[in-house]
Amino acid sequence: MNGNPTTRKNVLIVDDVEVNRLILKNTLENDLVPLEAANGDDAIKIIEEHLDNIAVILLDLNMPGKNGFDVLEYMFEAHLTDDIPVIVLSSSDEEAKIEKAFSLGAIDYMPRPFSARLLLRRVLTTISLFHRKKAMAFEIDKRFSMAENRIDPLTGLYTSNIFYNQVYDKIKNAPRRSLCMVAVDIDHFKLFNRFYGRAKGDEYLRLIGKSLKAYEEKYSAIAGYLGGDDFAILIPNRQGILGDMKKRAREELLDRDYELGYAPKFGVFSIEDPTEPVMDIVDHAFTALASIRTDYTHLMAWYNQDMVRHVRDEFVLLSDVERAVRDNEFTFYLQPKCNMLSGKIVGAEALVRWSHRDKGMIPPAAFLPVLEKNGFITKVDQLVWEKVCQWQRNWIDNGHDALPISINVSRNDMFSLDFTDYFLKLIEKYRLPSNLIELEITESSYIEDLERVGAEINKLHAAGFSILMDDFGSGYSSLNSLKELDIDVLKIDMKFLHIDYENQAKGVSILESMVNMANQLRLPIIIEGIEMYEQVNLLTEMGCKYAQGYYYYKPINVAAYEDLLLDESKVDFGGIQLSEVDQVHMMDLSEEKLFSDEMINNILGAIAFYEINGDTVRLLRLNEQYYNMMDMDYVMADSEYATHLRQSIYPEDRDKFFWLFKKADENGLRGATADIRYMKDGVDMRWIRFRIFPLRKQNDSRLYYGSLEDITEIYQNNENG
Ligand code: C2E
Ligand code: MG
Ligand code: MG
Repeated sequence: MNGNPTTRKNVLIVDDVEVNRLILKNTLENDLVPLEAANGDDAIKIIEEHLDNIAVILLDLNMPGKNGFDVLEYMFEAHLTDDIPVIVLSSSDEEAKIEKAFSLGAIDYMPRPFSARLLLRRVLTTISLFHRKKAMAFEIDKRFSMAENRIDPLTGLYTSNIFYNQVYDKIKNAPRRSLCMVAVDIDHFKLFNRFYGRAKGDEYLRLIGKSLKAYEEKYSAIAGYLGGDDFAILIPNRQGILGDMKKRAREELLDRDYELGYAPKFGVFSIEDPTEPVMDIVDHAFTALASIRTDYTHLMAWYNQDMVRHVRDEFVLLSDVERAVRDNEFTFYLQPKCNMLSGKIVGAEALVRWSHRDKGMIPPAAFLPVLEKNGFITKVDQLVWEKVCQWQRNWIDNGHDALPISINVSRNDMFSLDFTDYFLKLIEKYRLPSNLIELEITESSYIEDLERVGAEINKLHAAGFSILMDDFGSGYSSLNSLKELDIDVLKIDMKFLHIDYENQAKGVSILESMVNMANQLRLPIIIEGIEMYEQVNLLTEMGCKYAQGYYYYKPINVAAYEDLLLDESKVDFGGIQLSEVDQVHMMDLSEEKLFSDEMINNILGAIAFYEINGDTVRLLRLNEQYYNMMDMDYVMADSEYATHLRQSIYPEDRDKFFWLFKKADENGLRGATADIRYMKDGVDMRWIRFRIFPLRKQNDSRLYYGSLEDITEIYQNNENG
């Protein structure tokens, strides 16, 4: 007997190109267990061995030696194509080949290049359609099983295969009516589930199901639930309907008290060719949707050809990266870190460089984002780390003293490697003490999974590694996460402070606050991106000691770095030390200590910097918690913020809000506190405790620091008891 299809877990990936297999593996491994074959012979061996457990095969046609057709022919003759669905991977200009593959029993084909998400959905749908069809042939009570599975019980919408069928009928029967396919999913849905719990997550899916259902009835649309947080709906292509859909989704979200960061997003594809396969139509809608994923400013996007080009460009880049790994084109530069007081080198950061055979030296920004998306980054990172360790070993073997080198870690590395173990093995291999390799972790790698990253950091610490938090101040970071994570050194990047000529004073104040807070948390700081002497001056006055930037050194190749190290007058082997807090020399513009204990006690949680000029309040900067608490966008124009304040502060409390800032001026370092009623969309009232501290006067405006706390529960408890 063959295995029951519902328990089949394997996907067999057959492709001779490693990076292709890797992409497919990364895409599918959450839902299926990947098996890999790099040629036809291996594929056939695996098929024979795992016959009963293979749910689907992804088959590349062009391979050296036994190719995809050979595999298909073997399967066809052995009647295996009746039992296992085969999806052929091919470029769309190979029509004759695809025809031939179909005649040999392939069930579908994916044209390259494809986007990962689309592929995943298509694979899962194929499995469910194929096995359902097969099951139906055997089952006596066909209709019962159909009826049972027609409607998804959670969302009340059609299940995916029924949805595809219904859409097919509708498009075929009304070819001249203008229709569009809208793909819907929820931004950061995983995160949503984590914050609010699964039950709330289900409730959210149900809510979307309900609102799509309403369109079904009103416009005779067809709505389906495709699994996960993916929905699709076929509706008349009318601006009014789409606009309404967008507006309603936002309103419902706010009604339920969910944050805007978890908004449903819409991708729209207008159907021009009624003969286009339904799956392709749905894919196009999801391609459009993918273009605005995690982009707070857009809720809806229309499909266009550029999106396809983008996918193709990434594909070309990836193939080139794979070649470059083979040809050993990746290397690293070193950028010295300096003690600002002496100008001496205390260590360096390793930065990846791609020395491309045709294009010359390529900086990371040109390739890292794409590699990060599909996980290939880890391969390149490992190469860099290995080379760094190798160099350190060599340097020591040549009889020199070594300085620590920090390497960059991307989010994917943490989750795809047994991370700490990997590093321990690495330094063991090169016989290096763990203090010579430091790890830089950026905020984006911990923000989505604080617990897991935190646990890994603890393990790394236990193994003797130092952890640097990279790019602090780029937006997500908050001091709260610093408290939760056991970080050794904070890296603040000047470029995130936007200290241009116009905003200089503000940027400086914000920087100063960050520096002071870090000092209070007893965290040493390295300032990145120092380009001018004035900056050195300013920062040392604030109490910063270490920096990295073009003012000192640009990233340089290993040979140039070696030359520097050989000049003893340029090197300081003392390493990075924490400045004593009482040694910190505060900037003395206000003639008194800028930060009081009260302030420091309130640096955790939601914080913001305000500027008041006459009776306008501007929000200069806010952190993630503030954003979550107050329903705010990161980028809110001044006028929008004014409107936001007017609409959200309870009318009776508005005067109190402005009074707070005046009171804070009077109280100085003690600051001022007030509880203010705050409304979400004019309905849901909450109590927010504002603590405001004056930072600095400049000309007509004043700068303040605010910490916020949602204390609705305290008030509710008081009312109830
Ligand atoms: P990062 O880790 O924050 O590295 C600092 C970046 O700032 C480097 O850019 C460096 O060249 C640049 N920089 C340093 N001083 C100055 C300055 O004074 N002015 C200006 N304008 N820029 C300065 P780079 O080398 O292009 O690297 C960019 C980012 O790519 C890095 O930011 C890091 O996040 C990532 N990256 C670099 N190498 C690796 C690696 O091996 N693995 C991983 N996963 N990421 C890496
Ligand atoms: Mg770095
Ligand atoms: Mg950085």
